[in-house]
Amino acid sequence: MKSIFLSITILFFSKVNLIAQSKHKQEIQIATQNILFGGFVSGLGSGFNKEDGEKFSKAFFRGFKWGTLGGLGMYAGKKLTYQINSKNELLYGWGSKFIHSAGISIIQNTANGEEPFNKWHTNFGFLRFEVDVTSKPKMQLRIMPVSLAVFTYASFMSSLDLKKTFLFGTPIFQTDPSFFNNSLGANTANAIHIPDNLREQTNYVLAHENIHTLQFNEYLTINMFFKKPVSRIKSKFNKTDLSKILDKYIYLDIPYIRVPYLLLRGSTNCYYRNPFEKEAEHFATNSFVKNCW
Ligand SMILES: [Zn+2]
Repeated sequence: MKSIFLSITILFFSKVNLIAQSKHKQEIQIATQNILFGGFVSGLGSGFNKEDGEKFSKAFFRGFKWGTLGGLGMYAGKKLTYQINSKNELLYGWGSKFIHSAGISIIQNTANGEEPFNKWHTNFGFLRFEVDVTSKPKMQLRIMPVSLAVFTYASFMSSLDLKKTFLFGTPIFQTDPSFFNNSLGANTANAIHIPDNLREQTNYVLAHENIHTLQFNEYLTINMFFKKPVSRIKSKFNKTDLSKILDKYIYLDIPYIRVPYLLLRGSTNCYYRNPFEKEAEHFATNSFVKNCW
């Protein structure tokens, strides 16, 4: 367990704020960070979930190799997000999500010690759709409790913009402007909130918040690190009908990302010192983003 927590700590701080001097260099840095993130999550997961007797290093490199491909998928999905803003077209929200989900599916499979293309998943708000193509294709629908709690709370506090939600692929809530602390939008788990008086720059804000939604989901791959400890705990309890149902229909969407996000946050004048914010702004605007202004 100690090595799992140490790996998570290192991963949290691997998202360092790199200083680039040009848009091109920033692009390369961000692409490399995404590819390496995929490689390390898959490598470490594959190591923790290795067969008995197999060397950790061998399992790590097997996972790392495929994880970099998954990381490239993450990057490609985020890259497409700019089209939401530049083409003023919400449907790119679905496109960026599908490509990004394909990337994290590969990372998750290999981190889990499975073949890279065995299972695919994507989500719509608190619903997670999984397809297993190992033999006979099998579909499974699971609920993500944190995203469900956010969705339920937001439904009472704000109004769900149904048209935009279905065009975009992620729940979009029109929220009272007092909710926002000088920002144009916000993201919580798999939901986006925009002020209900926002008339301009809506698609820019949605593109920026879409990146935060993708970031939230890519950090869920850390769940794979706990596969063996969780199954050891489960084996101590008799499998009741309730635990079988929970296993089958619930996917824990722990907001791991909140820890590095809060620890690496910037100040008012240096907002983009936070690497998560810098990445979101870079992909939403396809431009060079400075730390401070
Ligand atoms: Zn942001």
